[in-house]
Amino acid sequence: MNRLIYLDHAATTATRPEVVEAMLPYFTENYGNPSSVYKFSNASKDAIVNARETIAKSLNAEAKDIYFTAGGSESDNWALKETARVYKTKGKHIITSAIEHHAILHTCEFLEKEGFEVTYVGVDENGIIKMDELKKAIRPDTILISVMFANNEIGTIQPIKEIGAIAREKGILFHTDAVQAYGQLPIDVEELNIDMLSASGHKLNGPKGIGFLYIRKGIKIRNLIHGGGQERARRAGTENVPGIVGLGMAVEIAVNTMSDRAKYETNLRNYLIDRVLSEIPYTRLNGDRNKRLPNNVNFSFQFIEGESLLIMLDMAGICGSSGSACTSGSLDPSHVLLGIGLPHEIAHGSLRLTLGDENTKEELDYVIEKLKEIVQKLRDMSPLYEDFIKKNR
Ligand SMILES: *Cc1c(COP(=O)(O)O)cnc(C)c1O
Repeated sequence: MNRLIYLDHAATTATRPEVVEAMLPYFTENYGNPSSVYKFSNASKDAIVNARETIAKSLNAEAKDIYFTAGGSESDNWALKETARVYKTKGKHIITSAIEHHAILHTCEFLEKEGFEVTYVGVDENGIIKMDELKKAIRPDTILISVMFANNEIGTIQPIKEIGAIAREKGILFHTDAVQAYGQLPIDVEELNIDMLSASGHKLNGPKGIGFLYIRKGIKIRNLIHGGGQERARRAGTENVPGIVGLGMAVEIAVNTMSDRAKYETNLRNYLIDRVLSEIPYTRLNGDRNKRLPNNVNFSFQFIEGESLLIMLDMAGICGSSGSACTSGSLDPSHVLLGIGLPHEIAHGSLRLTLGDENTKEELDYVIEKLKEIVQKLRDMSPLYEDFIKKNR
């Protein structure tokens, strides 16, 4: 059996053939350095202008407020570290959530060592940020609120508009890590009062190693990467022209297909959730049932180890994840699952499956059959399960 069913789109996605097609000439024919003066480099210069405009339009932003980076992690680092550095005369307090991606959490830990204070606001049992806690955390020296648009593990969508309104009212900058949401959900930085937004190409069927940070006009943050005058002297380094072209094309396709994809994936998602919850006992769905990304499913199966489940799914040709790709390989349970209040032993038995528009119902039927088989097999080997069954007989 060598079929492959890819259900890990939150970790990365395939680059669409149209995207690769659009990129190719910028490796081979139009390889000019956009900073050069001769006409030969105009093709690369123009390509960057076009991609920047496509992206700006997708967010209702100004093209000059889009800055290309090497991906989501760089954008998150830039937004946090440079806001902290520039605005520290105003205050040294930052607010974020307890379930952010490590690109945010580890940057916050770094800033704490540099003398900043960070409040990690908790989430409810579905992973929605506690708004009363967030409001209470605001102080006169708070300079930044950074809350992710949608969670990469449990898919929960945060009340971004509400947070943006509060930040605006209090005169605090608002950054959102929208790496998972961008391309899946409509985002309008004006309507939502977003001051800075991080996104990444490879999460929306674009290439890896390219992303952007939206920085609203007037925000004074300067370079994270120093060197040449690229990106209006705010992000040095010869532009990744093929990557930028690919990202632009991926965004164009994502915008044009967004509502159809959302409908299609939501249907598949709900089918998967309903069948697994009704056909596999002692299973729970993690994350909000409705306020969740169209493509995200996250289950906890009692009495089993997520790692064993992943290995056995892999043997059946199914790619899933036990949390985020970054936490796979470590034995600590996910901070997100602990953040929604799951006990360690339940968090350990978790499985994230994230869909793409190439997945089919037929694939999910196969996955559900395999899941039923594997979960039962693992439970049959579990002393905890044996005890539980004896007690409940
Ligand atoms: C993947 C991801 C990142 C990191 O993006 P890269 O482009 O891989 O650096 C940051 N935040 C979230 C929510 C992500 O899912």
